[in-house]
Parts: sequence; structure tokens; C-alpha cells
Amino acid sequence: MELFEKCYSFTRAREAMKTGYYPYFIPLSDTEGTEVTIDGRQLIMIGSNNYLGLTTHPKVREAAIEAVQQYGTSCTGSRFLNGTLRLHNQLEEELADFVGKEAALVFSTGYQVNVGTISALVGRGDAVITDKEDHASIIDGCQMALGEMSRFRHSDMDSLERALSRCKPDQGKLVVIDGVYSMGGDIAPLPDIVPLCKKYDARLMVDDAHSVGVLGDCGRGTANYYGLTDDVDLIMGTFSKSFASLGGFIAGDEAVIHYIQHHARSLIFSASMPAANVAACLAALDIMRSDPSLSQRVCDVAARMREGYQALGYDTGASETPVVPIIIGDDDKTFMMWRALFDAGVYTNPIIPPAVPPSKSLLRTSYMATHTDEQMERVLTLFEQVGKQVGAI
Ligand code: PMP
Repeated sequence: MELFEKCYSFTRAREAMKTGYYPYFIPLSDTEGTEVTIDGRQLIMIGSNNYLGLTTHPKVREAAIEAVQQYGTSCTGSRFLNGTLRLHNQLEEELADFVGKEAALVFSTGYQVNVGTISALVGRGDAVITDKEDHASIIDGCQMALGEMSRFRHSDMDSLERALSRCKPDQGKLVVIDGVYSMGGDIAPLPDIVPLCKKYDARLMVDDAHSVGVLGDCGRGTANYYGLTDDVDLIMGTFSKSFASLGGFIAGDEAVIHYIQHHARSLIFSASMPAANVAACLAALDIMRSDPSLSQRVCDVAARMREGYQALGYDTGASETPVVPIIIGDDDKTFMMWRALFDAGVYTNPIIPPAVPPSKSLLRTSYMATHTDEQMERVLTLFEQVGKQVGAI
């Protein structure tokens, strides 16, 4: 087949656009965190990852503006050659200290952290084992790695043990899990995973994209939440969520971070985080460390919403965090719910297979420390009206 034939015959998205059921790439003309403007209409945002609401915090904004004044708009090169600022090193030192590890390394996105770290560490002859609900960036990192990849059923310890026991005893092994799962909002059972990793001599990496800023002491993440910081070898985080910026980090033993720094291709061959993003992260980190009420508030908001949804008859799965799925099941009904809520003034994200298992389509909702009581009440009222109208409750 001619190379572009697949593009000319790809019509699914355009058909959805024509019917008004296309929920992707929606341009926001303004955003103040909990409210966004789309085509001149205000919507309550319950579809972002701005957990602490810091994207509009005066100190974070000011830090980014000052960094642009001082350093300009871009580093125009990779950390490796010409794109390392003292500010990057300062952020790495502060992050390592925050999550309780010897060293940290900052990348330009969280996606690049996972791809670069896994492909650097898992060499020919090694094995990498992932949870079936791990983020796509972990899967992509495994596919780039030269070692063998296997997957275990979501948070199923028997399935993890079977995968570990199939590895050869002398094989290097890395288990990679999400600390908080990005669609289900459930927390990984680290107290069960750690002993299995120890039993089979496997290293453990936790993707804390949805946990830093939210779980543990002042948002130090999943390992801190369980008191298992020393038992997790590598802690990964992104800056595109609680940190109100863009970029990501990996933290662990100094020798391991040093190795990743010299082998991760997504770090070496890609431009570094602009100063404004680094400065925004440093400011966000300062706020997190000094104000534990923020991580508490976002968890309280989510708990209240979960209760409200359950009282209305919705299934929120195993969520325990600010990510609260509303499991609808059927794809068409999920899109109908999304559209009716959108028209009524609530922004959610419809998620269908393959991002979730078949018949498990859902609306992904997520909360911010800055959502007001009035916004929460309004959202629940609209979910009641729309759910009845669509036949979801
Ligand atoms: N890991 C997880 C669990 C994520 O949810 C995401 C982004 N949604 C990433 C990694 C990638 O992070 P980033 O957006 O910084 O590239």
C-alpha cells in the first residue's frame, strides 16, 4: 500500500467531529485553573492534572516571569552540551532532598524520563516487568529497551510473582509501576510489591506523576506515604501536574542517576527545560514544602466528590486519590455523558479502550486544591441531571 494511503482513508476522527462527539484537542481560550473559557463559554474544569492549583499562584507566575527576564526564553540545547543552568542543578538537589534520595536528574518532560531511564537501564539480557495499567511512556520505554519485557495483571501480586519467577536468577530485573494509576486513581500496593522485588532481587521504579504533591508528607509521594522510601530504588515524577510546569525527574542512588545522565538518549539528544519552567517548579516546591494544607485539601475535595458520586449511584472504581473515574462501561453512553456535561458547563475527559479495558469506558475526573464548595455542588447537581437524562444512573 502507498505510504500515505492510511492517512487518506483515516476518517474516524472526522466523522466524530461532524457529529459533535469529538472530545480531543479542544482549544481553551483562557484558563484560571478551576474554570476555563471555550468559545466564550465558562466551564468548570474537572479534567486537568493541576492538583494543587498552582498554575496561577502569584509566586509561581512571578518566578517564571523573573526567570524569563534573567535567562531568556530557551536554553536552545541539551543538558549534555550547552543547556544546563545552575537553576537545573538547584532543582535537582532540592528534589532529591524532597523525595529522600541521594540524587535526582531533570528531563524536559515526564514522558522523556520514563523512556530515557528504562531504555538506559534495561540492557540486552535484562528484564523489565510492568503493571498492565502503567502509563504509555513506561511501555514505550520498555519497547525501546534491549531487554525482555513482561506485564502483570493490574496490582495482582500472584501475577507479579509469576512474572518475576519466570526470569532467570542471574538476570538484571526492573519492576516499574505507577504510584497512583492515572485512569483509576488507585494507589499501588507498595507494601506487597516491595517484598516480592526483594525476594526475586529485582529493582523497583515508581512513577509518581500523580502522587507527588498529593500523597505523603507535604506531597513527597507514594513511597513516603507508605514509609517505604528506602525500599523504592527509583522515584519518577513529572512537573506537568502538581508542579504547575513542564518537565520531569528521576531520583535514586547517586551512581545510578549518574549512569542515567550519561546513557538516557531522551536527555542527551533533546533540549533542556527552559528556565521559566525550572523556576516555576522551584517555586511550586517551596509552596508544597511550606504548606501541607494544599495536599490535604485536594484529597479532601476528591473524597467529598467521590462520596457525592457514589450517593448518586455512580461507580468510582478503586479511586482513593484526586483522580476519580466515573465508570460508565458503554462507549456511546460515555460520549453522550461527556457531551451533555460539556454543554451544561463541566469539562471532563472521556476515556475509551484501548486506554481502558473493553466495557470499562469512563469519564476521568480530577480535582484541585482550589475547587470551591460552590463548584463541587454545581458539578454534582449537573452529574445528577445528565446521568438521569443519559440513563447512566
Ligand atoms: N507518567 C504518568 C503516570 C503520566 O500520567 C504522565 C502524563 N500524563 C506521564 C508519565 C508523562 O508526563 P509528562 O506529561 O510530563 O510528559
